Amino acid sequence: MYIGRFAPSPTGALHAGSLVAALASWLDARAHGGQWLVRIEDVDTPRCVPGADQAILQQLATCGLVPDAPPVWQSHRTHLYEAALARLVDAGLAYPCACSRKDIELAHAARGLSRLRGAELPYPGTCRPERGGLHARPARAWRLHTARSNQKMPPTPTERALTAIDSEASTALNLVHWHDRRLGPQQQDVEHEVGDFVLRRADGLWAYQLAVVIDDAEQGVTHVVRGEDLADNTPRQILLQRALGVPTPRYLHTPLVLAADGQKLSKQNGAQALDLTDPTAALTQAASTLDLPLPSDGATLADMLAEWTAEWAARWRS
Ligand code: GLU
Repeated sequence: MYIGRFAPSPTGALHAGSLVAALASWLDARAHGGQWLVRIEDVDTPRCVPGADQAILQQLATCGLVPDAPPVWQSHRTHLYEAALARLVDAGLAYPCACSRKDIELAHAARGLSRLRGAELPYPGTCRPERGGLHARPARAWRLHTARSNQKMPPTPTERALTAIDSEASTALNLVHWHDRRLGPQQQDVEHEVGDFVLRRADGLWAYQLAVVIDDAEQGVTHVVRGEDLADNTPRQILLQRALGVPTPRYLHTPLVLAADGQKLSKQNGAQALDLTDPTAALTQAASTLDLPLPSDGATLADMLAEWTAEWAARWRS
């Protein structure tokens, strides 16, 4: 059984980059004879733009990308996130944190480390329960205990093999290994590179990592196809899946569309909403990013989608 999904954040209409992820996830579901779902990821309410959800659904429909079940909105599902956090807290896998960004910088400075420009500092574990918890300060956010979550799963065969040949066996055990269907084998030491990450933010909003993992599990998603800019979130999501005891889907991260200045195209850097007066032209552009054959002149939308679905299916068979 295959269940795939496209999970846009309604922070604006789709742009050329998001259409690539939408088309790839739709094609992958079709090529596997699976189901394709659309989930509107509107938990980060301050960033959501009123009406963008309907605009996105309309844009998808114009491109012939119609979900196989009614779309869901994360803002209607907060009871699921609440229950998951409670479960993690009960299991000792999540804890409250009182640290502000400044506190985290100071903790790093005290250890002689400074912030790399633009990089998020890994959380140093100040409020971990075994280190004394909140130290009488008020709780702000909730974090996943990455070290304990890592121990929730027996090592995979790859991890066991690495441990056997690696003299720094304990280091290898901290790594999350995963296989991306396009990028190949990947790994990350989440505990040291990211630290205990946030599940519920200081402003009370649900973090993307928690919402996405709960929804993928609850909706039975077996295959995640999304843009490569999200690839480095995957190991955090896998750790969270381990902590919650839910299955890990297969992942495929699609190439990004770059703006003229070489930056990734995103709503934040002012990417234009797609011009869908000619949906075949927009889809042809997305298809070229995915290295799919380009349609002959005069091909209809339905012909193009059918041809690419066949091409995509052939690729996975080869
Ligand atoms: N909502 C996320 C975004 O629009 C995508 C989440 C995902 O596909 O996992 O960037």
